[in-house]
Amino acid sequence: MARYTGPVCKLCRREKTKLFLKGTRCESPKCPIEKGKPPPGQHGRARVRESEYLLQLREKQKAKRFYGILEKQFRSYYEEAVRSKGVTGEELMRICESRLDNVVYRAGFAMNRPMGRQLVSHGHFEVNGKKVNIPSFRVKPGDTVSVRGRSRTIGRIVENASYAEGRPSPEWLSSNLKELSCEVRTLPERGQMDIPVQEQLIVEYYSK
Ligand code: SF4
Repeated sequence: MARYTGPVCKLCRREKTKLFLKGTRCESPKCPIEKGKPPPGQHGRARVRESEYLLQLREKQKAKRFYGILEKQFRSYYEEAVRSKGVTGEELMRICESRLDNVVYRAGFAMNRPMGRQLVSHGHFEVNGKKVNIPSFRVKPGDTVSVRGRSRTIGRIVENASYAEGRPSPEWLSSNLKELSCEVRTLPERGQMDIPVQEQLIVEYYSK
């Protein structure tokens, strides 16, 4: 299962926005975006003419990087969204949002999506009582995602869950952080996903 393994703060600097890929550091003044660091590379500070194509490309890259998805898979999600009955951009975001690694993060069991991905691939979660170690697994309404029996004492998961108790979980999920489980009520509407991406630009990028 391929994934990006390079420096993650560089990705935020490239997209000029916080992608929240590093846990507590993202909330601290040490975050390079907070410090106002420019995009990476020799020409990072250079003024770039913002063409329509560039805006579309950047929006696509931003969405992929938020969810930690590589191009091939993201494109296949787009093609699936095109085939669906709903609005393509919204469907694309809904597909990304319903990945198990994202649900684990949204429910409060992980500090960020990369950690959610790692916890899932290490086999710490089950869906409807069955072990699932595929981060791209997609949840459906009515599914229950929970920490597996022998993983319930893992410090990182327990700490994340207790840290998340103070923060509201998305309306489409019903988290029971004490029980280390969460139920998927519905699939999310676009307004319930706090992802600062203009999905219409992504659709325009791919539909050329
Ligand atoms: Fe992005 Fe977090 Fe690094 Fe800040 S600390 S640049 S939000 S990954």
